[in-house]
Amino acid sequence: MTITGIVPGQDQKKCEVCGQERPLVVAAMPGVPVSVAYCRACLDANAHPWHLVVANTALIGGLDEAADWWKELVDATIKHLRRPRSKFDDDVAAEMAEMDAELRYEGEYPELPDGVR
Ligand SMILES: [Zn+2]
Repeated sequence: MTITGIVPGQDQKKCEVCGQERPLVVAAMPGVPVSVAYCRACLDANAHPWHLVVANTALIGGLDEAADWWKELVDATIKHLRRPRSKFDDDVAAEMAEMDAELRYEGEYPELPDGVR
């Protein structure tokens, strides 16, 4: 994983994966175009923010469609955060249902919130 920076420690104090306050590094998350504040333990474990792992798995079309390296990242995140796999599967299913509902939207293009152009 590419470490892209060191968090100054003022504005971002928590690891975005485990939520612990520890020394942080910012790294590019594999496969997702974001940089995330990681503590060393999460970085070493290949664990990533739950919501991003769930959302990207849903975007892929489910874990069955994912590449092996992504499945490893999912497994590592579940293990490191000690959450049940069923929770992950449920969250991905919910996210996919939400995406599906959005794709079925047949009205006008939805109005963007204030400030979004
Ligand atoms: Zn962490």
